[in-house]
Amino acid sequence: MPVRIGIPRYLSYFSFYPLWKTFFEELGADVITSPPTNQQILNAGVAEAVNDACIPIKLYHGHIMEIKDQVDMLFVPRLVKLRKLGTETFCPKFLALPDLLRATIKNLPELLDTRVDLTKGRFELFHIARDIGERFGASLTTITRAYYLACRALRRYNRLLRNGMLANDALEYMETGCKKSQQVDRDALSIAVIGYPYLVYDPYANMDIVKKLNESGARVHTVEMLTPRQLLREAKKMPKQMFWYYSNRAMHGAYHYLGRKRVDGIIHISAFICGPDAMLGRFMEIEAKEWGHMPFMTLSIDEETGSGGVDTRLEAFVDMLKRRGGQK
Ligand code: SF4
Repeated sequence: MPVRIGIPRYLSYFSFYPLWKTFFEELGADVITSPPTNQQILNAGVAEAVNDACIPIKLYHGHIMEIKDQVDMLFVPRLVKLRKLGTETFCPKFLALPDLLRATIKNLPELLDTRVDLTKGRFELFHIARDIGERFGASLTTITRAYYLACRALRRYNRLLRNGMLANDALEYMETGCKKSQQVDRDALSIAVIGYPYLVYDPYANMDIVKKLNESGARVHTVEMLTPRQLLREAKKMPKQMFWYYSNRAMHGAYHYLGRKRVDGIIHISAFICGPDAMLGRFMEIEAKEWGHMPFMTLSIDEETGSGGVDTRLEAFVDMLKRRGGQK
């Protein structure tokens, strides 16, 4: 019987799922993913995670609870560094994720907590793949093929994002071939929604902000729609990089959309009590003012956030942009 490996539909899922899914399936495993975030997952996460955790960490716990009893093994990589950019690393909660889960959730299946530090060398991702593959008893030929196909799947996913698809639409397209795109007029408002992918692309966590913006006549742009080259070009505008990978990406993305006023406004989706986000939000706000007073709004999310308040603020923001003449 194939090994059942669980991948929670949260945190780095929105960045790397096609890579890991393809890899494990090519090794012969059954990949089981938690369902999209819902109230039950949120409740379970709030009950299991430590009290002062941010909402994304609570939701991740909830996703783990949802699948832990259906799988032989849970894949929870310890993401450390993906590139050499200043002292950039992942936020401490990411670094400690496997330990947090072990400390808080009872009766976990085996955790595959592979350490990912791609700054160790050019072939580090392959070395990681080889180590995992050997645990699954796969031959070097099978591992190499699985690695190649997984990298190809990730490249395809990233291409879809850069062509303007939102993460969930791109993932669905890769699974089913069913193509969705944002349904807005050509002369719609352009709004950059900036934030960590697990806040921007999880409609339950963010009260379906992207859909609401589309319905109010705005096209949404995200950081994932930009190429690494575009983002690195923007990185040079910062005198010093921030410490955290996703914060840097968000800041570089904000610079891109601020430059030449590529959008009519920027919305920052932020996690309440996230230390990195508090700093990031303030930086973005200052820069938005300096770059010609770009309209900027922060929506801070936690488990108590209600959709009523978010809707009102979104409507007011979009109305203000329309009055400013953003809609052509
Ligand atoms: S970056 Fe912030 S929101 Fe994300 S896991 Fe770390 S503390 Fe939580």
